[in-house]
Amino acid sequence: MSVVRKISMMVGFSTILIGCQLEEGLNTDQERHGTDRDSDFNREEVSQDQKDDSRNESDIVFDSEDQTSNHQRNREVDVDPDNEDQSEDEEKEGAGHEDESESRRVEVMPDQTFELGSDQDDIRIVQEQLIEVGYQLEVDSVFGIDTQRAIYHFQKEHEHLSNDGIYGSETRAALEEALENKVEIDTNGFAEIQLPHEQKREEDHSEAEIDSVYSENVAEEALFEGMVFVGSMLNVRETPDAGAEKVGRLKNGAHVFALKENGNWTFVYSNDATGWVANPYIKEIPYDSTQKQTVSNPNDLLVLVNKKYQLPNDYEPEDLVIPDVPFPFKGTPERKYLREEAAKALEELFEASQEAGVELYATSGYRSFATQKEIFSRNVSRLGFEIASQTSAFPSESEHQTGLAMDVTSSEVNFSLTTSFGDTKEGKWVEENAHKFGYIIRYQPGKEDITGYTYEPWHLRYIGKKAAKEIDERGITLEEYLN
Ligand SMILES: [Zn+2]
Repeated sequence: MSVVRKISMMVGFSTILIGCQLEEGLNTDQERHGTDRDSDFNREEVSQDQKDDSRNESDIVFDSEDQTSNHQRNREVDVDPDNEDQSEDEEKEGAGHEDESESRRVEVMPDQTFELGSDQDDIRIVQEQLIEVGYQLEVDSVFGIDTQRAIYHFQKEHEHLSNDGIYGSETRAALEEALENKVEIDTNGFAEIQLPHEQKREEDHSEAEIDSVYSENVAEEALFEGMVFVGSMLNVRETPDAGAEKVGRLKNGAHVFALKENGNWTFVYSNDATGWVANPYIKEIPYDSTQKQTVSNPNDLLVLVNKKYQLPNDYEPEDLVIPDVPFPFKGTPERKYLREEAAKALEELFEASQEAGVELYATSGYRSFATQKEIFSRNVSRLGFEIASQTSAFPSESEHQTGLAMDVTSSEVNFSLTTSFGDTKEGKWVEENAHKFGYIIRYQPGKEDITGYTYEPWHLRYIGKKAAKEIDERGITLEEYLN
């Protein structure tokens, strides 16, 4: 197989992606947040992202000559365009920012398609208008589960709309009408509503099981495990030919097994589609998966999760609760949750900090596998695979999936996750006192080669008082403590 050739092609491609990013603003937000290995997105970062994740209904495939970047010339390109009319978007967005008057109620709704995982600034308008009609949402320009739930609920309330949880032209029209007529929607029970994919998951249980057996077998046969990195959607074709029939499409971030190669084409298996895809958009996952181990004790308070030890993909803690501590945002998003014992300890920690005159905020706790995958994929499309894998946790390798980690911050650093938090009054208090409540600062300076991460003064991990005390006294990491 020709991994070396593939990698060298990939490196060229990524370098250009990174180059673009540098021009677009790496020296601002990326620099400040570049060390956040958990890559908690924030509003500024999201608003800078001009990439349009919305799916284009028309199924156009660019020929290589049509691609805007030179590096893609003379290479098989088989990718759908993902940038719809950018300038038009920007105009609309500008209008939205300036318009603070009463007419905000009927602000021009984005004429695009948004679905789970989309992150574009215009989603902010959709979220604000959903709030106008009665939904409790966080405005973060990311089409996450909460936004999907609200759209889905709104569609259920309007019989003529199809129930797909996707914001498209018909949902847009109905939402505009509701806003014009100042309709208030009865949103009782909307937070509990089951989304289409959640219902489907139960029905397809046995199918999913069969699938996982298949993919395990496939994994043994595979040339390599890879990931799709593409702006939007990648076509999968019946034969290795740009003119061959399409048998499916793969999203950015999709996990694939490469089974064979033919010229510039790779035959891949994935949960969504099986067939031939153009090489430049499949990237080998840069680790030897045989070196990875899945932990057998995900519920243990001392569970070790890092680049070597992964949680099972489907692991979800059963005792998640929202700690009663200040957050710099409203609503009940997933990231407010922690496991019960960790939540109680965090409340005690916050209480003690307030008594000491220290004003802490919690920003990011539990994160499901699906969310981490979304974040990782978004970073891949924004930064390229190499940078993304250095700066954000691979899905199932994030400690946040344990429900035992919480990122904390303060107003002094603008609620961001930045190493300068360590120099603030709040950061110093946390460093000195966290262990008394069973928490440790998980990623300490000078321990990068052990933990795999650079210094993160904001990332607290709950391990219980006894272990935290010993780790604090000996100045060691959780890895060293457990060995
Ligand atoms: Zn974190």
